[in-house]
Amino acid sequence: MSLSVEGQTFIVMGVANKRSIAWGIARSLHDAGAKLVFTYAGDRMEKSVRELAESLEGQNADYVFPCDITNDEEINEAFTTIKNKVGQVNGIAHCIAFARKEELNGDYISTTRDGFLLAHNISSYSLTAVVKVAKELELFTENASVVTLTYLGGEKVIENYNVMGVAKASLEASVKYLANDMGKYGVRVNSISAGPIRTLSAKGVSDFNSILKEIEESAPLRRITTQEEVGDAAVFLFSSMARGITGENLHVDSGYHVKA
Ligand code: NAD
Repeated sequence: MSLSVEGQTFIVMGVANKRSIAWGIARSLHDAGAKLVFTYAGDRMEKSVRELAESLEGQNADYVFPCDITNDEEINEAFTTIKNKVGQVNGIAHCIAFARKEELNGDYISTTRDGFLLAHNISSYSLTAVVKVAKELELFTENASVVTLTYLGGEKVIENYNVMGVAKASLEASVKYLANDMGKYGVRVNSISAGPIRTLSAKGVSDFNSILKEIEESAPLRRITTQEEVGDAAVFLFSSMARGITGENLHVDSGYHVKA
């Protein structure tokens, strides 16, 4: 058994730009010798994802495919293309979430039905949709694994995180149920609860700077979580060293969860 994922293939879903946590995971996997396949949502993202893919030495920059997670047909099409062009995959990194900016401040009780459903569709159900289609298409290799990203706001009340916290709680429960469903096929499903990192999505959360300041001042490690730390933890979860771990939520947050 080893930490190596050399020569293995992973789908990384959710790179928007170089600050994306998905990009941290992509770089860690790349540094560990993995072959990557990227998916993105919407034409606006394509250029930036292609450029980032090209920046990785030895990475095939053609392995970049559209996949809007709200559309089952698009997931099916993307994964069918991936299976035909690249073959089976050893893992999927699901790094996708969305909630309307106006629902990420003030009181949770102000959440609208539409906003609730939108956040849950993109940020939670999408993981189930992805695993379901991958299973149906026999996209997973033996001993494959799935890693998704969550946040402490799914376990505890964090000011302004609101509907996204409720969606993360649903995502974390889905990880457990999916782990149970997929275990019999040898597929593991885990999440990483990342500490706050300044990304495009994080900009949507009101007063994000105070959250960062609090981590710097009071997390056990007294520093902000980096993309690299999350990326390296994802490589561990994907590797055979983590072969006994499924349905788990691994906190990579400078230890802040023990304080909150
Ligand atoms: P990001 O904005 O870089 O990434 C979010 C991604 O979601 C983007 O690439 C976006 O295109 C994608 N996305 C949104 N709607 C989509 C759709 N319909 N179909 C497909 N893709 C869609 O921000 P990030 O912070 O890197 O977020 C990645 C994950 O990490 C999210 O699940 C987020 O909740 C989680 N997370 C972030 C933090 C943080 O502080 N930044 C902390 C813990 C967990």
